[in-house]
Amino acid sequence: MTMDRALQPHRLVRRCMAFVGRRARTLGSRIALLYVVLLASVMAVTIVVAGSGISLFARDNAERDLAANARVFDQIIATRQRQMADAGEVVAHDFGFREAFATGDAPTLASALQSLRDRARVSEAAIVQLDGSVIASGQGSTIDGAAMIGRLEGGQNRGVVSLGGTEALAAAVPIEMPDLAGWLVLVNTLGPEDMGQLVRLSAVPVEAKVVDRSKLSPRLAPVPLGEIAEVDGSKGERLVRVSAIASLQDGREPRLVLAHSLDAALAQYNGLRIVLLLISVIGVIVGGWAAIRLSRGIARPLQSLAEAARAYGGGAVAKVKVQGAIEVRSLADSFNAMVDAVDEREQQIMHASLHDALTDLPNRRFFIEKLDRAVSRQSDIHRTFVAFIDVDDFKAINDAMGHPVGDELLRTVAQSLQDRFPDAMVARFGGDEFGLLLTGLDPKEDCTAIARMLESTLNREAIIDGRGILLSASVGIAIGPQDGDSADSLLKSADLALYRAKSDGKGAYHFFEPELDAEASRRRRMEIDLRRAIRDGDFELYFQPLFSISENRVKGFEALMRWPHKEHGMISPATFIPIAEESGMIVQLGEWAVREACRQAAQWPGDISVAVNISPRQLVADGLATCIAQALAQTGLPASRLELEITESVFIGNVERTLKILHSLQLLGVRVALDDFGTGYSSLSYLRSFPFDKIKIDQSFVRALEEGGSAHAIVRAITTLAEALGMETLAEGVETQELFDALQKEGCDMIQGYLISRPVPGEEVVRLIGSLQPAEARFAVG
Ligand code: C2E
Ligand code: MG
Ligand code: MG
Repeated sequence: MTMDRALQPHRLVRRCMAFVGRRARTLGSRIALLYVVLLASVMAVTIVVAGSGISLFARDNAERDLAANARVFDQIIATRQRQMADAGEVVAHDFGFREAFATGDAPTLASALQSLRDRARVSEAAIVQLDGSVIASGQGSTIDGAAMIGRLEGGQNRGVVSLGGTEALAAAVPIEMPDLAGWLVLVNTLGPEDMGQLVRLSAVPVEAKVVDRSKLSPRLAPVPLGEIAEVDGSKGERLVRVSAIASLQDGREPRLVLAHSLDAALAQYNGLRIVLLLISVIGVIVGGWAAIRLSRGIARPLQSLAEAARAYGGGAVAKVKVQGAIEVRSLADSFNAMVDAVDEREQQIMHASLHDALTDLPNRRFFIEKLDRAVSRQSDIHRTFVAFIDVDDFKAINDAMGHPVGDELLRTVAQSLQDRFPDAMVARFGGDEFGLLLTGLDPKEDCTAIARMLESTLNREAIIDGRGILLSASVGIAIGPQDGDSADSLLKSADLALYRAKSDGKGAYHFFEPELDAEASRRRRMEIDLRRAIRDGDFELYFQPLFSISENRVKGFEALMRWPHKEHGMISPATFIPIAEESGMIVQLGEWAVREACRQAAQWPGDISVAVNISPRQLVADGLATCIAQALAQTGLPASRLELEITESVFIGNVERTLKILHSLQLLGVRVALDDFGTGYSSLSYLRSFPFDKIKIDQSFVRALEEGGSAHAIVRAITTLAEALGMETLAEGVETQELFDALQKEGCDMIQGYLISRPVPGEEVVRLIGSLQPAEARFAVG
């Protein structure tokens, strides 16, 4: 049997897969559908194969049954003929019958034949005489004696004859008296009814009939004798066996046709087929159910994994319930572990993004977030207290004592604030800046008391690394809503207050006042004006003499910048230089001062020198040395007549770099003076770190001389050290002869101050030099 192409296993599987792919969208339904389709396919193939097997088996069985039936039929026919012959034998030897036959006693013969017919239960009993004539048991016999005679004479006594058009079984017994006088013939028809009786004796339902060969249907005619063939007919498929039976008449060829319905044979197995089909259907259903469960077992955890991943992607912390097969459990475990790890890392990142690494305090961003929320809820009875804190001179401490000490100091400040204000949010804004936020303050809360607490917390001695350090910090405070209705404006107000606290003197707090805002806008306006003035070249240089006590003459002038403002009159450098510093404009402005000072000094007589102030920011900017070299070259001023005044604050920050720059300037041949010595971060160590040509002792020391006390000793210490280091000393702000005398006594080399002259415009310098030459007349040099 050849299998249908479509049913070939690999094609079937491929088709199934394609079908599954098209129909099922989820993994679970795909697996389930695939299983069901595969199972159904296997069952279908099984049913087809088993069905074919059953058909083959049934056909074989039917053939065997038919063959056996044929033999039984032969025997039945033979037995029947023998019975008929036996009955005939008795009558043929009966004396009365023989006598009646001999005498021709027709009534007796008829009666004997009738009695024989009835007893032997045959259709007809007759005598065939040697001439072929027939004496029958009844009237109208259709036995054709003449046709039989040939066979009978040939010794044949069994066979089939035609009886009135119907095939009949015949058995002949010779009547011998003693010579052969005829034959007693018993004939029994083989019509449908008779055959039916025969069939009932057979083990299987067969149809049997005896027909003459000439009357065989066209389908049966070609069937070889004695063989079983399959014939299609109106009654469906049948197995047919055609066999020859002996004929007792000439010219006839009777055939026994046995037919067995194949449909009927196969029908016996219908039950089996139905059972097989039921098993398959139940198998597919059970298999399908199992496949659905199995696929759910795989797909459901995957689905919940996917849902969890989606939820996780959406921001929720989703965990998966650990269940299912071991692989699925391990996948869920891994997913959960990943969620935990990512969560932890996210929290770390979150923490890092909102906290300061050094102090672990919230950072500026976090502070502003909280301030934003506080501001949205603030009112006159829920006030917001914002403090902006800046550690004073932190850079100097850091540089002098090293970064580890600086870090520790910041940590100490952080810890102190947290300990003292446990309800506040303390944040580090970066560098040495901190923030403190208190929210929901009612009107009874005393903000000044809080400010004082802050002041006392921040201004004290702290022990760091075993050393006592004097902590100092400035605090700017703003109170919401009065000082600002947004986080931005409150912070700005606190910043302005801090600026003010710093400029008022360090280690103090300052509350925001509206005037600070006005001051800030004034500064902004001035910045704009300053920019325009630089562009228009509105500045002038004034010069103040530097007087040598020992030589009793003016040795040089300090160039001091002036800004003649169209509206505000002459603006002091003390006002605009810090703004120019902050905005960076000082670089451009300072370069102008250097060029202008050199230009004018080149016109001065003799060796009179000029001193130019260089701001810290200008010093570290690129191109200062180039600018100075160019100015000297263009004006022809000898480098030795140019002095640069720098302040101690240049040592805040990168000391090494500052020293490198100072050395490179000294290499140009110019002199370097340390201005305002003793104001800021005064450290005698600076004097040792660089060979200054001059030290300018600040006005504050000079003034202190008038009050007596330790000032004399300090000035003496400075002049002694300077002398030892080969540096000149100059005292600033000398306004009286007494100070002049005192300074001379303490060993000061030079003085500068109103006593000699106020700063004068450039065009007056030459005249001033002239007027100051007979110095002996004016200053009593001891
Ligand atoms: P400074 O370099 O210490 O200059 C000395 C200041 O003391 C000058 O103030 C001068 O007028 C003032 N002064 C001199 N003698 C006396 C005195 O006897 N009594 C009093 N009370 N004051 C006296 P000025 O001109 O207002 O300059 C202030 C500061 O501005 C300067 O202090 C300097 O640091 C800065 N400055 C001035 N010009 C320039 C400049 O061109 N560049 C830079 N970077 N800074 C400059
Ligand atoms: Mg100066
Ligand atoms: Mg000075």
